[in-house]
Amino acid sequence: MRYISTRGNAPALSFSDVLLTGLAEDGGLYLPETWPEFSLSDWRALRGLPYPELAARVMAPFAAPDISFETLKTLCERAYAGFSHPAVVPLTQVDDGLFVQELFHGPTLAFKDMAMQVLGHLFEHVLTQRNERVTIVAATSGDTGSAAIEACRGRERLSVVILHPKGRTSEVQRRQMTTVLEPNVTNLAVEGTFDDCQDLVKALFADMSFRREMNLSAVNSINWARIAAQIPYYVHAALALGAPEREVSFAVPTGNFGNILAAWAARRMGLPIRHLCVGSNRNDILTRFLNANDMTIKGVVPSLSPSMDIQVSSNFERLLFELLGRDAKRCAELMTGFRASGHMDIPAETWERARDLFSGLALDDAQTEAAIRSVHLRSGYLADPHSVIGIEAGRQFRQPGIPMVAEATAHPAKFPDAMVAATGILPALPPHMADLFERRERYRTVPATQNAIKDAVRAALAGGSTD
Ligand SMILES: *Cc1c(COP(=O)(O)O)cnc(C)c1O
Repeated sequence: MRYISTRGNAPALSFSDVLLTGLAEDGGLYLPETWPEFSLSDWRALRGLPYPELAARVMAPFAAPDISFETLKTLCERAYAGFSHPAVVPLTQVDDGLFVQELFHGPTLAFKDMAMQVLGHLFEHVLTQRNERVTIVAATSGDTGSAAIEACRGRERLSVVILHPKGRTSEVQRRQMTTVLEPNVTNLAVEGTFDDCQDLVKALFADMSFRREMNLSAVNSINWARIAAQIPYYVHAALALGAPEREVSFAVPTGNFGNILAAWAARRMGLPIRHLCVGSNRNDILTRFLNANDMTIKGVVPSLSPSMDIQVSSNFERLLFELLGRDAKRCAELMTGFRASGHMDIPAETWERARDLFSGLALDDAQTEAAIRSVHLRSGYLADPHSVIGIEAGRQFRQPGIPMVAEATAHPAKFPDAMVAATGILPALPPHMADLFERRERYRTVPATQNAIKDAVRAALAGGSTD
């Protein structure tokens, strides 16, 4: 499989190159040149497979010919071996025709592990083949950093440097990062906001000589391999509920549009998906787009679901490219204009095409808290402030006779304050994290300047961090 950029002005690359490159040279995002399509009998053959094998079968056409199915299967088995639920992505019914698929049984208790664990193994495999090393640098507001650290810890060919805004992540989120003491992991507490961290990382990647010197690589949600690793759980849920003979719908709490884009990809591959529902918090640009074709950036407001506090959903560009009939020139114009003006005029027929498949629902904090309470009262199910937005969207948009699956993206124990406020119940951390608050932490506090970050990355490479 070759990959092309949504902006049409970057070389086509193989899967392994796309894995290591992330963003395309022209600022666009990589997508497969052609979509693999599975027949009815292909889908049926996946029924009942153990999750890692199903994942490898679904990902194989994307990774070919660089990585064989057999290798992928081994990597996926290793990636999901550490998950705490034997089914990896279990389904629970919470209402009439409404199911929850739990994606949070990985090491950091959020759905980012689903893809990041596979990515860690993929990086190791490709870098060993090429006899190379890379340094992964990423900014995090919470969940991405810990998932990247868990995926890379102790790996010989990877160093990982994570920037988090000092004092602005939850204590569970910070400790999940800073208590990992392997020498190839460096945590930087930046004296600034998440946006400062993100700008600092962008500037590092834009500095081509530094980028080459340090062999920098990115694992943020624009990396195609992450999307590819998120497609299998949609397949798994759909098959369990009667596909390919029966249609299924999905509801997904959304920030960067990466998770729900994987659902769209599953549908593009022939999985019978009827409807896709986007759930947002007050940062509701996607919902405003779907409901009123209003794609206008507003300031980010903090919410109970911090991993969805995003205004520019980077993966939306991939859907836009497809909705425009893969017109890369038009896509590039719209995206450049959007960055410059904060507003995108999407042609009415493109918007209508999106509306045929997607619906959007936004909940503010009070509505989120009320939804946590009512889901718990109705079904006994404890949903975290992200997952509950998906469940609520699924409940609103479900149709008779078509199972609706809401994706649960975080374990409720990650957000104890919100859970106690809504239900009076403090969910326990799972056994492997029960001593999180007693573990030793290690991180360096750095000012939000380019030179301080560069020095810290150099120090990380020279032999691990100390303090
Ligand atoms: C990252 C994240 C999301 C948003 O996922 P996107 O792929 O960015 O849409 C939702 N919930 C949780 C808990 C997350 O960590």
